[in-house]
Amino acid sequence: TVGAVAIDKYGHIAVATSTGGMSGKAVGRIGDTPLIGSGTYADDNIGGVSTTGHGESILKYCLAHSIIKLMENGTDANTATKEAVTGMTNRLKNTAGAITLSKNGDVGIYFSSKRMSWAYIKSNKIFYGIEHNQILEDEYRPS
Ligand code: ASP
Repeated sequence: TVGAVAIDKYGHIAVATSTGGMSGKAVGRIGDTPLIGSGTYADDNIGGVSTTGHGESILKYCLAHSIIKLMENGTDANTATKEAVTGMTNRLKNTAGAITLSKNGDVGIYFSSKRMSWAYIKSNKIFYGIEHNQILEDEYRPS
């Protein structure tokens, strides 16, 4: 999966999610990625989410929307992302990951898979990682 979540200066939130699917997938399988509420969700009043992982489980759990719903009820972006991804994995025994951005610019990142590469830019710094509890940091130098 390649996923991105962005907010512009007017507070409009956009999300894009793209995938090659799962290896060995059935002919005609669509998966979770293009389905709003599963692989992708954006609401200017709350935030945006892009997900990756086991598509059938993400679909059953409506993972992206589950995260947004938690945030709508007052949970912060990082906690909501962790709670929903963990909830999906506990219930359906498959792994997933998600990147989340709240309407206030708070970032949420969590994955129940072994690794997930992620990155974001804030205050002229780029933060990135791939393993659990890994947060690397560098100066953001746009060319
Ligand atoms: N969620 C995708 C699918 O099941 C796989 C991925 O790219 O994470 O099709």
